[in-house]
Amino acid sequence: MLTKSKAISRLQELSEIITKSREAYFNLNQSDITDQEYDQNISEFQKLLSIYPELEDQYSILDKVGATPNSRFKKVKHLTPMYSLSNAFNNEDIFNFLKQIGSFLDLSESENIDLIFEPKIDGLSLSLIYKNGILFQALTRGDGHIGEDVTENARLIPDVPISIPIKIDTLEIRGEVYFPNSTFSELNEKLEKTGRKTFSNPRNAASGTLRQFKSNKNRNKNLCFFAYSIGNATHQLADSQEMLLKVFNDLGFKTNDISKVFTGVEELLQYYEKVFSMRTELDYDIDGIVYKVNNFSLQQRLGFRSSSPRWAIAHKFPAELSITIIEDIEIQIGRTGTLSPVAKLKPVNIGGVIVSSATLHNRDFIMGLDNKGNKIRDGADIRKGDWVTVYRAGDVIPKIKDVDISKRNSTSKSFVFPDLCPSCGNEVKIDKMDSAIRCYNSQNCDAQVIAGLKHFVSKKAFNIDGLGGRIIEEFYQKNLIQQPADFFRLESKSKNGSNLIEFLGKGWGEKSLKNLLHSIEKAKLIKLDRFLFSLGIRHIGENASQILAGYFGSWDDFYNAIKAGIAKNDGQFLFEIEGIGQLMVTSLIGFFSDFKEREKLEDLLNYVKIEKFIKLSKLETAITDKKLVLTGTFNAFSRAELKSICERAGAKVLTSVSNNVDFLVVGQAPGSKVKKAGELGIKQVNEEEFKVLIDYNL
Ligand SMILES: [Zn+2]
Repeated sequence: MLTKSKAISRLQELSEIITKSREAYFNLNQSDITDQEYDQNISEFQKLLSIYPELEDQYSILDKVGATPNSRFKKVKHLTPMYSLSNAFNNEDIFNFLKQIGSFLDLSESENIDLIFEPKIDGLSLSLIYKNGILFQALTRGDGHIGEDVTENARLIPDVPISIPIKIDTLEIRGEVYFPNSTFSELNEKLEKTGRKTFSNPRNAASGTLRQFKSNKNRNKNLCFFAYSIGNATHQLADSQEMLLKVFNDLGFKTNDISKVFTGVEELLQYYEKVFSMRTELDYDIDGIVYKVNNFSLQQRLGFRSSSPRWAIAHKFPAELSITIIEDIEIQIGRTGTLSPVAKLKPVNIGGVIVSSATLHNRDFIMGLDNKGNKIRDGADIRKGDWVTVYRAGDVIPKIKDVDISKRNSTSKSFVFPDLCPSCGNEVKIDKMDSAIRCYNSQNCDAQVIAGLKHFVSKKAFNIDGLGGRIIEEFYQKNLIQQPADFFRLESKSKNGSNLIEFLGKGWGEKSLKNLLHSIEKAKLIKLDRFLFSLGIRHIGENASQILAGYFGSWDDFYNAIKAGIAKNDGQFLFEIEGIGQLMVTSLIGFFSDFKEREKLEDLLNYVKIEKFIKLSKLETAITDKKLVLTGTFNAFSRAELKSICERAGAKVLTSVSNNVDFLVVGQAPGSKVKKAGELGIKQVNEEEFKVLIDYNL
């Protein structure tokens, strides 16, 4: 066994390596170690800490923000998903948000609705579940669907009551945990004095404290908590957000005292400016303001888009800036063949995060032009060696705001965008649809194939652990993996793992290979939306995949419809789906008409099992699973709201009347659809009858 002093020096070494590779990972850099090595380092690190638990506090790097979820915490599925909010970056976005609400609810222009203003605390979301008034479980947000059980640590937060004076079956209260600025510097001073690693910002301190291996009573005492919403409850506690915050206070929770209700948007935006200018005086960091529709029955009517509520938006504060130098300009090739220039920066700290690369968008951006050909940055181009202002907002890839040409070296040369694909050497062409420069050699361009494979195993697709970028490249170069189905054939290529290990050589052991094969096996069962996303079809991102999955419900229904559509040369059925536009339809048809893509897909289908898409809160009503067509205008609903009600009930809304339609819903001043439905003998219902069908009781 290692002596303590040897363990300390090894821990020191490992913590440096792990921190470095983690930073590289979060800055989208190539890490200099493989994921396998990274995992080995982590497990060695954990093993050393289990031998010398007294060193845990000193080497607490594993629970910092962005850490891979710690296996010591139990993973628990949220009662209802913790949604994220859509973002607004300027006043115009807010006006649009209100306009969308107005038209969804069919309000007249003079009608205003109350919005509640709540600061967006830059901390850690926490869900607290009370059973019969007793704190039962505390979960971090995790990926929104599955969080980590941090109950033991949460119990030690003074703002989190262990019991509340309301004894209902289940009450889930959500809010934000933060580390106050006033005690943050104290904490860092203490850590520094004792030679320990400091936290780079209060958010990391909050996360590090809440997600410690072993609860630290003294440090947990410093954490604070603001309650702001209800996740799941067996009783309704209030009929507006404003009232709910008061109920929270009665239950013993703290709520944020900046919160305020506004009816007019002008006053709301003035208050935003005011809070923005006083934000540095607060004892917590805020990165924006959340506006929510105050009235709960209106919130219910507005409902959710695929991943965010229609009734709330986050108005972000302007991004943080830093100045640094461009060390190099690299061209990366994406899975759809787009050549994306990336600036490699001299590492710089922007708002607590070390940034070492930034997107340069496209050729025009480097040349000082926007996508319409107008000058940006007064037409200044961007070159290797230039001093640039870099900004980042939220978790998106950092961007370049400006370039300082007065500091430019006289010998610097303008950047020449390649004419040939740096990977396969094919000539690149500009795509007229989106002005991107693209390599069209999709099937035989290594960079594109590799990027497609990386996408296939990525978190939001097949989510296969242990397959980092380096490993996929290695497998591809060694001819082991050429297309998605090959992942599932890996096992058959290895007899008890031995042949494959010999073939793979350095860095691979029996255990690492076994782990990898296990995660591949586990990934075979996949949800429909994830499967659609994994195919990497252009323009079919996460959101479109969810829309398609929600509409078709099962892979067979989707695939049969696509095949039938292609056979008839008719993509009309896709246009009927709300949220699926022209580009997406063209791209879907193009993908599934491509012989080679189809061959690869059919191959893959032999190995996977695709789960049916289950709507989270499908309301069973008389229209569930029925097909409807709407005509005319309605008194109580806008078209958008009607569609959303139908979707929630699992009904499909089509645009035209045909034999397979179950109901025609007839409003005022209906069109020719009534006649056609009559001819086909399709059941017609008016607005009042429709309300009965959907159990409308608002
Ligand atoms: Zn290429």
